[in-house]
Amino acid sequence: MNYAQIADAYEKIEATPKRLEMTDLLVELLKNTPVNLIGKVVYLTQGKLYPDFEGIEMGIAEKLAIKALARVSGSRESEIEEDLKKSGDIGETAQAFIAKKKQSTFFQKALTVQRVYELLDKMAKTSGSGAVDSKMALLSGLLSDASPKEAKYILRTVTGSLRLGIADMTVLDALAIAYGGGKETREFIERAYNISSDLGKVANIVAEKGLEGIKKYKVEVFEPIRPMLAERLASPEEILDKLGGKCVAEYKYDGERIQLHKKGNEVVLFSRRLEKISNQYPDAIELVKKCVNAEEAILEGECVAMDLETGEMRPFQELMHRRRKYGIEQAMVQYPVSLFMFDALFVDGEDLTREPYLVRRKALEQVIVKSDKIILAKNVKVGNVKQLEEFFEEAIEDGCEGLMCKAIGKESVYQAGARGWQWIKYKRDYKSEMTDTVDLVVVGAFHGRGKRAGAYGALLLATYNKEKDTFETVTKCGTGFTDKDLAIFPEMLQRHEIPRKHSRVQSTFEADVWFEPAVVLEILGAEITLSPIHLCAMDSIRKGSGLAIRFPRFTGKYRTDKAAEDATTSMEIVEMYRGQLKKIGES
Ligand code: ATP
Repeated sequence: MNYAQIADAYEKIEATPKRLEMTDLLVELLKNTPVNLIGKVVYLTQGKLYPDFEGIEMGIAEKLAIKALARVSGSRESEIEEDLKKSGDIGETAQAFIAKKKQSTFFQKALTVQRVYELLDKMAKTSGSGAVDSKMALLSGLLSDASPKEAKYILRTVTGSLRLGIADMTVLDALAIAYGGGKETREFIERAYNISSDLGKVANIVAEKGLEGIKKYKVEVFEPIRPMLAERLASPEEILDKLGGKCVAEYKYDGERIQLHKKGNEVVLFSRRLEKISNQYPDAIELVKKCVNAEEAILEGECVAMDLETGEMRPFQELMHRRRKYGIEQAMVQYPVSLFMFDALFVDGEDLTREPYLVRRKALEQVIVKSDKIILAKNVKVGNVKQLEEFFEEAIEDGCEGLMCKAIGKESVYQAGARGWQWIKYKRDYKSEMTDTVDLVVVGAFHGRGKRAGAYGALLLATYNKEKDTFETVTKCGTGFTDKDLAIFPEMLQRHEIPRKHSRVQSTFEADVWFEPAVVLEILGAEITLSPIHLCAMDSIRKGSGLAIRFPRFTGKYRTDKAAEDATTSMEIVEMYRGQLKKIGES
């Protein structure tokens, strides 16, 4: 298969804003792809080479791409930079420059998908001294055989700016239609994806073995399971109502979610975003080896920073000190952790994800050898509001954020990859004026003045609009920053700085500095109001108005465990706004 076929499909996909059409185009592409390449093509359409949890990134800086383009097209770097300033897109610039060159060359070897993938793979895996030169050579080689259109998509891919907007769910739909036998078979394919987090692998299996093959797909140790997520409600009455009058209330620990995978003496830890984070917690790995009494297991828990002297839990942000390449030994001593375990998904060959909560909890209890550092999440069965309130107070007193209320009926299976009503969170913040903290994406910044001269004065923050796959500004925040935060921000944000507003950001503001949506911060505000200038959930409450968060304050929590797309959504802000109105109406 030639890469030109993929480039043609990308061009058509890009031209349509309609998801259904996009799906049809993807179906066509997948049907025309040889079975042995399906997985690779699926990764490529999402701008990847591997599933996210492998942590392998393309890693070509725009500067290097410009250099390669200059070499191959015979143009000066400054000319290319000039053009890029105007186009704002390395892809379009590449297309134009390669087209110019093509007029004077005759020979060109057709690029196959296999070759493009292999070379991209080599580039991604090249590291150490001389890596820049090797990457440059590989990329130049690829570009010199590329047509203008192919060059456009190759450069977007390697610089991480191929944004066709093909969400996981669109790929699943397309696979169901192309290879499952119809859209209605998606649930089986989706299940395989939810328990493997690997769209390429799922695509390969369904293409090769059809629906029956995919139905047999099983949970496997070291393939992360997409996490089950909780809904939220503001009162114990509503929670009990929703859960059929009774539930198990569990301490909601404030740390980092960890999905641990163990096979014999080998242990891998995945974060909530399913990144491998084993190297941050060598102590937790030892703990798991010693205290998980199973040959094979996939368990979930919250990793919490502890004060060993008092035995108290420390704030979530202390775990930040574990995110480092060097000096982890010292960080382990300074910032010790404990694991509070809350779920068992797989134990010794048995897939527990389809079992109700109480069965899973029992399995968890059996498999954990208790110690003072690996502890079962404290819980109690409750059947009325008073019990729930009392346990909530106890949780707060013990330093927790609140409670996770879990359904205990037959349907209380582990809903991998879904946010549902089987788990409902009940947090302290709900009791204060502002409903809850929100997690917002930094999309821009304003220069500081006076005391803040030379630093950022305020950040422009956005919610994620899931339907449109965009980020919509919701507030400008300059409060709650300590001196340390002000020093950390540039370090954290400069990597994401871009010369102009990001194409997925919706804003009426002109920020002094723009960022690609990547950094997520936890913010507490006083209230949500209608706003003529912020674009969050525009027109959903009233035509011409968006929603804004007033009096925002940074809580000090860097949500490094969240991707931009995991931020609070615009729809969640709409719900919070409505909830807030209801409360005002009641009083
Ligand atoms: P979400 O993960 O739902 O998108 P979030 O990251 O903002 O939201 P919270 O709203 O604070 O997190 O609540 C969910 C998180 O609570 C879980 O992802 C998990 O890390 C944590 N947690 C702590 N204790 C428990 C528990 N006993 N059971 C389940 N989750 C727990």
